[in-house]
Amino acid sequence: MSNELTIALAGNPNAGKTTLFNALTGSRQHVGNYPGVTVDTKEGRYSKNGLSCRLVDLPGIYSLSPYSEEEVVARDYLVNQRPGVIINIVDASNLERNLYLSCQFMEMGVPMVIALNMIDVAKKRGIEIDHQRLSELIGLPVCPVVARSGQGISELMVAAIAHAREHSKWQPAKISYGEDLDAAMLDLSEMIKAADFLTQDYPARWTALKYLEKDDRHLSIGDSVNVEMSARLVEKVEQVSRHLEQTVGSEPDAMIADHRYGFIKSIVKQNVVHRTIDPDRLYASDRIDKVLTNRFAGPLIMLLVLLGLYNFTFTYSALPVAWCEAFFSWLGVVADTFVPDGYFKSMLIAGIIDGIGGVLGFVPLIMFMFFGIALLEDTGYLARVAFMMDRIFRIFGLHGSSVMAYIISGGIAGGCAVPGVMATRTLRSPKERMATLLTVPFMNCGAKLPVLALLVGAFFSENQARYMFLFTLLAWLMALLAAKLLRVTVLRGASTPFVLELPPYRFPTFQGLFIHTWEKTWHYIKKAGTVILGISILLWAMMTFPALPETDRQVFEDQRQQMSDQVSPLLFAELEGTTEPSIEALALYEDLLAVDGAEAEAALRYSVAGRIGTAMERISWLPGFDWRTNIALLGGFAAKEVIISTLGTSYSLGQVDPEASESLAATLGNDPGWDAVKALSVIIFVMFYAPCFVTVACIIKEAGSWKWGVFSITFNTFFAFLLSTLVYQVGSRLF
Ligand code: GDP
Ligand code: MG
Repeated sequence: MSNELTIALAGNPNAGKTTLFNALTGSRQHVGNYPGVTVDTKEGRYSKNGLSCRLVDLPGIYSLSPYSEEEVVARDYLVNQRPGVIINIVDASNLERNLYLSCQFMEMGVPMVIALNMIDVAKKRGIEIDHQRLSELIGLPVCPVVARSGQGISELMVAAIAHAREHSKWQPAKISYGEDLDAAMLDLSEMIKAADFLTQDYPARWTALKYLEKDDRHLSIGDSVNVEMSARLVEKVEQVSRHLEQTVGSEPDAMIADHRYGFIKSIVKQNVVHRTIDPDRLYASDRIDKVLTNRFAGPLIMLLVLLGLYNFTFTYSALPVAWCEAFFSWLGVVADTFVPDGYFKSMLIAGIIDGIGGVLGFVPLIMFMFFGIALLEDTGYLARVAFMMDRIFRIFGLHGSSVMAYIISGGIAGGCAVPGVMATRTLRSPKERMATLLTVPFMNCGAKLPVLALLVGAFFSENQARYMFLFTLLAWLMALLAAKLLRVTVLRGASTPFVLELPPYRFPTFQGLFIHTWEKTWHYIKKAGTVILGISILLWAMMTFPALPETDRQVFEDQRQQMSDQVSPLLFAELEGTTEPSIEALALYEDLLAVDGAEAEAALRYSVAGRIGTAMERISWLPGFDWRTNIALLGGFAAKEVIISTLGTSYSLGQVDPEASESLAATLGNDPGWDAVKALSVIIFVMFYAPCFVTVACIIKEAGSWKWGVFSITFNTFFAFLLSTLVYQVGSRLF
């Protein structure tokens, strides 16, 4: 049924398209847009009161300039599918901003009616809109609706269908862009009409406008149809640009945007909006915002809130974390007692229990952290954080929306770069998006967190929360500097304007907090139980095989034999515990243990992993990493959690006395090969080196080329290596 009427729903994100679509079609689409979720169009049917048509829900967009995937999808849909009419959903409580998109639809010329949605919200905020007056001024039908309750939607459909019948041809609105540009628009339109350039698909005025705006996508469509004509238009636009630059010092696209806003202002000012409540009387949310997002107090409060979050997490999770660690050591002792010696026992204790235990031991910490984040998110404070950070982000060539991607990746603590990379889809400028996407892995994700917590706990235990807070700030600083570096080199380009919505403050519900915390924690546990278990076992095997040859083992065996030959039976009795041990007996016992330790170390060095780690020492001495650390860092590329489990395994393979089994933090703290400077160097490296395997795969997918994946691995690793070397070389000379 190709001649059936198709109606497309279009509007800004969160204007209520999906809600309206559901109300009209009776289907249950997912309401509420997560960044990047609705890039596709959805279809349904409407039939009521003898009227019927096809309905299409387009992705939410702010503009028709193709900054983002969503905008391209929406624009291509309109041009290629030619819906009979579009319903432009406008959030009445945010009229001016929403009309910016409407204005562009009008310039494009598609038949359109406006659904003035959320009039209930607007009314509550003391805003009343004279829809008849608005309709007169812009020359299109305007229907007030409440999509959530269905109020006014039948009238909307009647108006839309009638409008489609009366207007089948596209008629671009003529908005004035100032004297110079208006004249240029006329000239360009004439040229376009004369050459019949793209006029099948687009009104000549629209093509002229897009060439003036230097719209990449439209230009490449033009090039593919008629290169010569396209070049002539570009040349003409260059002339106009130069002229504008000289006379008013501005670019055509900026002037066009200014005049659009001017056009909207002039409409809205003409008695369209009535405020029933004195605008000075603020709502609770606005009043809170006056303080919390205040230019000076806001950032200070933000820092205090975040510091508070760290204190809360580390203070309250310390005890449960200790319980978890105790449980896993106990498990190790149990396994040691009941499982017969051999490779299986070694795998069970060194590979599984110590590996997974190291990761799961941090579950309470992660849970507290996630709870804190959920609290900030559900109250609406997180959006304010993004709002305040926007000012800073501009300086570094990023965008306000980058903040959310950073936070999702672990910018506050405990996140994941994978959804973070995906969240960059909301960024409209491809260059800002790439710069964000490549730097989000610098954040301290939930997998790096335990590594940092372990090392901070072992070497900077006096004030864990404060150190973790400092490392978070460092992550942001480095990410921003790296972004700036990218934006002035490989990703040069202008920045895009930013509009941000601040949801009202809410009291979080207990259920909501619980679900959010649990979802994230469960994700962490699941990963430990599957991916990390697998990698742990693999690494254990790499650290165990090939086994030390018989001849080498014999050397140690001989040493032990020699020692015990010297020992009198009396000493053995002491060792067995029948009499009080003498000084000599204790010294001998220590010597025996030392031989065992030396054998374990020789075996580890002989293994595949040991050889790789040792070979890497040739350059890793610069940042001060020994071969054991190298093994762990290599494993960390598979998943950052593996760093802990690998350290756990390699130190427990070397640790021969399971009775004296202590937590990994204590082992490292007592190891003469480790000190605070080395710990710091490792922390820095872990924070900034290559993103984990899954993140790289995601970067390749989102950036559209494997080259960016390779870039990300090499750039980050090189960056981290330099930084760690600096820290280690300077630090070890100073302390
Ligand atoms: P979309 O991004 O345009 O698809 O917007 P959604 O349909 O996902 O709606 C965003 C949010 O606004 C949801 O929480 C809806 O429940 C809410 N919403 C939509 N329409 C109305 C309305 O008319 N009144 C009120 N109060 N809320 C609405
Ligand atoms: Mg939607």
